[in-house]
Amino acid sequence: MNTHGPRVRIAPSPTGEPHVGTVYIALFNYLFAKKMGGEFILRIEDTDATRSTPEFEQKVLDALKWTGLTWAEGPDVGGPYGPYRQSDRKEMYQPYAQELLDKGHAFRCFCTPERLEQMREAQRAAGKPPKYDGLCLHLTAEEVTSKMAAGESSVIRMKIPTEGSCDFHDGVYGDVSIPWDSVDMQVLIKGDGMPTYHMANVIDDHLMKITHVARGEEWLASVPKHILLYRYFEWEQPVFMHLSLIRNADKSKLSKRKNPTSISYYSALGYLPEALMNFLGLFFIQIAEGEELLTMDELCEKFDPDNLSKAGAIFDIQKLDWLNGRWIREKLSPEDFVARTLEWASENNRLTEGLKLSQSRISKLGELPQLAGFLLSNDVGLTPASFAGLKTSPAETLEILNTVQADLEKLMEWNVETIDAELRAVSDKLGKKLRVVTPPLFVAMSGSSRSLPLFDSMALLGRSVVRQRLKIAATVVASMVGAQESGK
Ligand code: GLU
Repeated sequence: MNTHGPRVRIAPSPTGEPHVGTVYIALFNYLFAKKMGGEFILRIEDTDATRSTPEFEQKVLDALKWTGLTWAEGPDVGGPYGPYRQSDRKEMYQPYAQELLDKGHAFRCFCTPERLEQMREAQRAAGKPPKYDGLCLHLTAEEVTSKMAAGESSVIRMKIPTEGSCDFHDGVYGDVSIPWDSVDMQVLIKGDGMPTYHMANVIDDHLMKITHVARGEEWLASVPKHILLYRYFEWEQPVFMHLSLIRNADKSKLSKRKNPTSISYYSALGYLPEALMNFLGLFFIQIAEGEELLTMDELCEKFDPDNLSKAGAIFDIQKLDWLNGRWIREKLSPEDFVARTLEWASENNRLTEGLKLSQSRISKLGELPQLAGFLLSNDVGLTPASFAGLKTSPAETLEILNTVQADLEKLMEWNVETIDAELRAVSDKLGKKLRVVTPPLFVAMSGSSRSLPLFDSMALLGRSVVRQRLKIAATVVASMVGAQESGK
């Protein structure tokens, strides 16, 4: 372990498919640690128990491993400041919350969700931003004790100065000043005893001796709460660096509604991790045209935290495609290329499982690419003709595709059983038989009405590819609906 250099971390929450933005921030931290002779560590922030799942945690680990990044400490490799999963640290946060209560920096709040909702409603109606109004700040010690004794449920909130502003220096943004009256009396410990992100994040960064916190700019507004906690505990605060988010070409936030954002989508389509990291790494460094093709070592060499690129991170998929093509053609030996292709085809067992599903459906092996090729291909070539043979009208097909897409987003676990149950539920909701709902989905997934069993295929394709195919299918079918309407 390096005891002198900086210690940085990536702290993902396992609440969904690992996002390209997470890898972008991870890469920054990794390059920073490498460049400065420090350590890069991984911490899982699963304080949101309703949205965090073991499946997503595994996916976060798999995605980060796929990128080729390595971490010195983490839930999988251990380390001197573990555990590295916040749910395993639950008991560690309590004494700190008590310390804040004892020092008068925090208070118990007994407001019910209904009261808080009414309060927010009134604030909204008055055109004010929703913020806790401090009702429970004024409870006496006796009132708190008697409410506790009566078993009333409570949370612990932090006190916030009423005047002045929080002024700090951000390593990327420069000097920042945020007025205290815009900062909410943040809940630190929830009713169930779990800390919130803010509380756990600050305590863990301190206990894990994190020196630099580099993360997405969406956290900039939270810095005053964090700085205040460091002050309350009398701890030295880390250096903050808030990186601009990756954006679409139209400057909107990269979101899965517009573009695929999951790492699993890019790996399923056959992007090389080196190319994706090369692409993301270019957001941080200043280079001349013609110097774009860079390995991780070269990125590290050129990375300079004092001279970061000012260009903004635009997710230009054509540039990623171009870099990926160059990596395939220029950086892989023929042997590597073959090995990497076989590895890619076998990802998530899709080759083996796809073959097993195919066995009962062919009479010659040569029929396999036609039958099962959709499990590997990037584009199943959907056109209006692909949907023309369906019994449902284009408008009905569109409703099915859109409803299925939205409802599948709610699945916490992704497997044959959960998909099966969800599609049955969608059929009921639409008042249609399952055998009416599935044909459009067969076409959306495979481009053909004759293919492998639907639920198994969707499970093998994975959430992010299924989402994208449903979206493409919906676009094609919407054009049919539009054409029909304009023809009327
Ligand atoms: N758990 C937070 C996230 O998922 C981490 C933010 C931070 O790095 O402080 O983005």
